[in-house]
Amino acid sequence: MTFFFARLPPFAAMKTLARRLPGPLTLLWAAVMLVLTLTPAQEMPRTPAWKFLSFDTAAHAGVFAVLAGLAGLWARQRPRLRYPASLVLAGCLAFGALIEGLQYAMQLGRHAEWTDLLSDGIGAALGLALATVAGRRLLPASLGLALLLLPRPAPAQTTTGPDLPRARRTIAALAAPKMHGRGYVQQGEHLAAAYLRSRLRQLGLQPLAPDYTQPFTLDVNTFPGKMELQVAPVSTAITQPFWPSRSLRAGIDFIAAPASAGTVKRMPAIAFRLDTLAFTNASGQQALQQQIRQLNLPGQGLGPPVLVLTAPEEKRLATLPLRVQQTLDSIPNRVVLVPKLTASLSTTQSPAIRLEALDTAAVWRLRAHNGSAGLFILTLDAQLRHNYLTQNLAAIVRGSAQPDSFLVVSAHYDHLGMMGKGTYFPGANDNASGVALLLELAAHYARPENRPACSVVFLLFGAEEAGLIGSNYFVQHPLVPLARIKFLLNLDLLGTGEEGATVVNGRVHEAAFARLTALNAARHYLPRLTARGRAANSDHFPFSEAGVPAFFLYTRGGSQAYHDVRDQPAALSLAGFAGAFGLARDFLDELGAAR
Ligand SMILES: [Zn+2]
Repeated sequence: MTFFFARLPPFAAMKTLARRLPGPLTLLWAAVMLVLTLTPAQEMPRTPAWKFLSFDTAAHAGVFAVLAGLAGLWARQRPRLRYPASLVLAGCLAFGALIEGLQYAMQLGRHAEWTDLLSDGIGAALGLALATVAGRRLLPASLGLALLLLPRPAPAQTTTGPDLPRARRTIAALAAPKMHGRGYVQQGEHLAAAYLRSRLRQLGLQPLAPDYTQPFTLDVNTFPGKMELQVAPVSTAITQPFWPSRSLRAGIDFIAAPASAGTVKRMPAIAFRLDTLAFTNASGQQALQQQIRQLNLPGQGLGPPVLVLTAPEEKRLATLPLRVQQTLDSIPNRVVLVPKLTASLSTTQSPAIRLEALDTAAVWRLRAHNGSAGLFILTLDAQLRHNYLTQNLAAIVRGSAQPDSFLVVSAHYDHLGMMGKGTYFPGANDNASGVALLLELAAHYARPENRPACSVVFLLFGAEEAGLIGSNYFVQHPLVPLARIKFLLNLDLLGTGEEGATVVNGRVHEAAFARLTALNAARHYLPRLTARGRAANSDHFPFSEAGVPAFFLYTRGGSQAYHDVRDQPAALSLAGFAGAFGLARDFLDELGAAR
């Protein structure tokens, strides 16, 4: 039989094919690897199996074993190739390094690790050895292994905990540069909302409004365009056209205060360091007024002067005699020196320019010489957007027994947007982490076996950072009767947890807090739970004020990045994430979400 078939043309064709295959297959496999590893994590419904198993070194090794095996077969057919084995091995390692490098550079929400390279190398060596020993017989085996390693739906989750890798992907997706800080420039908050709609749809949650969307508008001050600041000490200023200056980086060395006005164009001005002698004696005050009058004389092509002072000094201004205060008011543009930059949003724009700058930046050394001045060149595009259309998202899992009784889980998805063209606020902890926890709870209750007795509503608020605007709007225009909400659990800042968590309103609803602590103690979810009184610091507040019992849960410890450019996914330990999930689920279950 074998003899008979061997003479048939197809077999000859197959032999030719088998000879020609290794080259193209190597390239194809390399291409598949590139596509799978470099697709942004958020667009992958599931991480490729080999990345999914990346703690399992074998998966990494397997992928590179296939690559090296195929490349080895290809090399065998090229007798003129010198040192084929070393060549293939070096090629595979270089390719592995390229992938890790690209993953790192593109900030895809995937982690680049040198240990991966080690596994790649071991796998490649193994594949190469096999190719050398087994020759072309290896081809079907490689293809089989390749198919095994290709992405496919992960097995249905059997545990009751959150899917931590998926939560990490949610956070990475929301904090990615292409979300532009989920604010009001470059459509950031719209992109975040679109991503979240698709997640709610994937989970099979029922919309509580058309397309899950409750639209509303707000006014908001933004910094969408140029943002440049150069500062030079006084000694070199004005007289020399090319004085040495330092450029400060927007978002890192300085930020615009929320309500700051901008400049129409590049604005050179004198930066005047407040003379603190004004706080100590009358002659100091006289000198200060004298200096300010001189400053306000029209300068050569200079804009209005800028007052430089520290935050505590600014507070002390109110203690100065009224006439001194009035003189100071004649220079409304200010740079306030602070130990940490904390950005925020405003719904109005003031007529004055106001920057906050890190007091550690050497350029502000002029502060050592009170009353001294420097030259300051600012370009700042500030745009107050009127009636900007944004949205809340609302979804529901209908209760099986009491569908008209509601438990609410809420989290805001918006953040601070951008500070100039080049800087965005990732908002990983605030509040991609809370959104990730909300989605994990939604995934839990959306599963048929966890169908709750009463309805569970999931609210994703917009415009929290601009002053709880989305949650206020919801309370004014509720999509479920507020009186039928048994409890609301607001999640904001859930990315840490080394020191446990705080429960705002824990002192208001003492019985509910006692239940929470009992659950926490029984199941060892979080190291500590601390109760706080009322606080208007997140979206639970408008509900609380409207009489809806509500807790606001946030984790403590770990990363201290807050409203700054360092609030990145990599900074989050998620130490309390699974604990907070268990606690929230058990608490909701007790309140009626159990089936
Ligand atoms: Zn927040």
